[in-house]
Amino acid sequence: MRPRAPENYVPLIRAADIDDRVAQLGRDITRDFADRPLTALVVLKGSFIFAADLIRHIALPLHVEFIGLRSYGDRTSTSGVVEITMDLKHPVEGQHILIIEDIVDSGLTIDYLRKNLETRSPSSVSLAALLHKPTAARVPVTIDYRGFEIADRFVVGYGLDHAGLYRNLPDIGYLDPPPA
Ligand code: 5GP
Repeated sequence: MRPRAPENYVPLIRAADIDDRVAQLGRDITRDFADRPLTALVVLKGSFIFAADLIRHIALPLHVEFIGLRSYGDRTSTSGVVEITMDLKHPVEGQHILIIEDIVDSGLTIDYLRKNLETRSPSSVSLAALLHKPTAARVPVTIDYRGFEIADRFVVGYGLDHAGLYRNLPDIGYLDPPPA
């Protein structure tokens, strides 16, 4: 049985298209790292479904780590203040890190995370982001592996929530009218 979307939910990217794109990103990452071991750093909570799918398309020796970051609270726009809600459990010194992020919006979260990781001396840091809202950028962000570019509207589904809900919807879509 599939989860039922709310009345005001408008699908934007269908599950089958997400699957195809995620598989392609996995092939690109596998090719680029050419057998070098990789540490996938999953940014909780929104990236957990994307990460679970993506890592199964990466044919490399792979470790998985998690970090919890928050900048939205229950709102639909960034507070501009990034908080670590759960820190890394192991050192990442000397490792090739692939950050796995659900969406780059203002860019503040990734900017914060990249600067934070630099203090931990990894060998390299790359970024895979499923979604990108280029028109919402407040700081420049380089996305090495990008799934889809979308307009500046608040989306839910495929791991993305509003106030904790809708993460289990298989497609990505927006709410119209949007949440207050
Ligand atoms: P940024 O710091 O780039 O503005 O935002 C990054 C984080 O904000 C994402 O990891 C995600 O948690 C949240 N976010 C940004 N845009 C959206 C959106 O359209 N929908 C949802 N559910 N979360 C978003």
